Amino acid sequence: MSRYVFTEEQKLAVLRRANYQCEYCKFPKDFSHDHFHFEHIFPLVKGGTNDLENVALSCYTCNLKKWIFTESKDPESGETANLYNPRNNDWEKHFKWNDDLTVIIGLTSTGRATIQQLDMNRPGLINARKALVSHGAHPAQNKIT
Ligand SMILES: [Zn+2]
Repeated sequence: MSRYVFTEEQKLAVLRRANYQCEYCKFPKDFSHDHFHFEHIFPLVKGGTNDLENVALSCYTCNLKKWIFTESKDPESGETANLYNPRNNDWEKHFKWNDDLTVIIGLTSTGRATIQQLDMNRPGLINARKALVSHGAHPAQNKIT
């Protein structure tokens, strides 16, 4: 199977739409040591397409942890919940930052399931968020929308 190649125009559209941040953990691309990926919200192996509406800008680890999942267990209720979908869901409805902006808190079953599945509060990421805050570059300090 040949790999689909996005055009430069499509790549720029995805980057701009995401405000150059991981659409899940909100880490800014320009501060990441790692490559960002075009993550298929509905996985190709499950019939998802390369349509830009099915593509999210994702940091390497969020993409790796999401893998082919579209749902996971809400750690609070134990029930299966849909994972956060950047095209259909509002981030602020499902997540919020703690007071020092280092930890993402799930507000809904989707938020909690996504945080757990994607490991969105991994220790290295919490430390990196501390650095972003001290640098004035945390996404919550730089809302453009
Ligand atoms: Zn991420």
